[in-house]
Amino acid sequence: MATQVQDEQETDPEDVTALDNARRQLERAAKLVDVDEGIVERLKHPTKVQRVAVPLKRDDGDVEVYTGYRSQHDDVRGPYKGGLRFHPDVTEDECVGLSMWMTWKCAVMDLPFGGAKGGIVVNPKDLSTDEKERLTRRFAEELRDFVGPKKDIPAPDMGTDAQTMAWFMDAYSMQEGETTPGVVTGKPPVIGGSYGREEAPGRSVAIIAREAIDYYDMDIEETTVAVQGFGSVGANAARLLDDYGANVVAVSDVNGAIYDPEGLDTHDVPTHEEEPEAVMKYDAQEKLSNEELLELDVDVLVPAAIGDVITTANAADIAADIVVEGANGPTTFAAAEILEDRGVAVIPDILANAGGVTVSYFEWLQDINRRAWSLERVYEELESSMLEAWGDVSEARDELDVTWRDAAYVVGLSRIAEAKESRGLWP
Ligand code: GLU
Repeated sequence: MATQVQDEQETDPEDVTALDNARRQLERAAKLVDVDEGIVERLKHPTKVQRVAVPLKRDDGDVEVYTGYRSQHDDVRGPYKGGLRFHPDVTEDECVGLSMWMTWKCAVMDLPFGGAKGGIVVNPKDLSTDEKERLTRRFAEELRDFVGPKKDIPAPDMGTDAQTMAWFMDAYSMQEGETTPGVVTGKPPVIGGSYGREEAPGRSVAIIAREAIDYYDMDIEETTVAVQGFGSVGANAARLLDDYGANVVAVSDVNGAIYDPEGLDTHDVPTHEEEPEAVMKYDAQEKLSNEELLELDVDVLVPAAIGDVITTANAADIAADIVVEGANGPTTFAAAEILEDRGVAVIPDILANAGGVTVSYFEWLQDINRRAWSLERVYEELESSMLEAWGDVSEARDELDVTWRDAAYVVGLSRIAEAKESRGLWP
């Protein structure tokens, strides 16, 4: 009965918003850090949230108005930073919750950035390329006063990509009267984007999974992995883990999963970018649903598709020993507690997929210095940044004997709290 009540509560959409999860995680972590109450209170609220109307003339001449948001959570350590998503489920609360996670993510990686997130409530699949371009340019114009290389730097997220960032950067630059590559990251390299940015979140997921496998004294050659989502994050993580020697036995896209207990050739399965929604067309031993993939008896599970996929409804059935979060917020707060009780290690998103924003930082540096780095240098610096963050988080975990998420929060929150204490509250 108790479980049923919990399930009912959690299926209430209000109860599982990203903001709700983010606030509960913050409250939990704040108990572990010697941090002033007032600072925690301040961090529960975004500094500013912009809400804009984005009118679009459709190809048939009709005009539609979409709603866009930009939540700027905290900038005590540097300019606001975070993605822009185009998705029908975007809400203000979701942007605020995701912007909080960006604040922690940047602090865990020790980047000189704060956290932001934004988006438009739209299904990009319903728009032509020309419509997406007009929508992005108008959104850039509506946000122009609030963004900038020293203020707030957007990047790609769900439903947006390098081309979206190119349009955004062009619209901003045209209006400002100067080419400003550093206003966004995740651009194509030809206009100031960084090599390796596109694959960076997936790359960091693989690096962190490799370190977690080693931490638990497992042999990567003997490790089985299931990856939910075969877009940029999931496919890059799966392929790199495959290269490291792991046995990737299942991958999925929105239509379902393919499974081969002997291991899949991940380089042969087309990614979403190579051929959209092609995973189920691949000739594999078995086809499963996304739900079944999540419950596979594997060593490592990588949810790398959307948020809220591990909930109280399936947390008891997750059979993996280690969950490495590729997506932002794939595990709800209540589900994380169930996994904790069951002894499943959950390596949080704010560490695992932080390679994206880390290479965004490299891109921003390259833009400011007008000097590109080689792909080799990006990979080397990303590897050492990830290892450093992994070291900080595992040290906090061992010292405090807490979950991986709590340990990552302790690292991030301590840095933010110190910065806030040293700057003070004005006036
Ligand atoms: N959208 C990505 C994330 O959630 C990247 C953000 C960025 O590079 O600014 O981490």
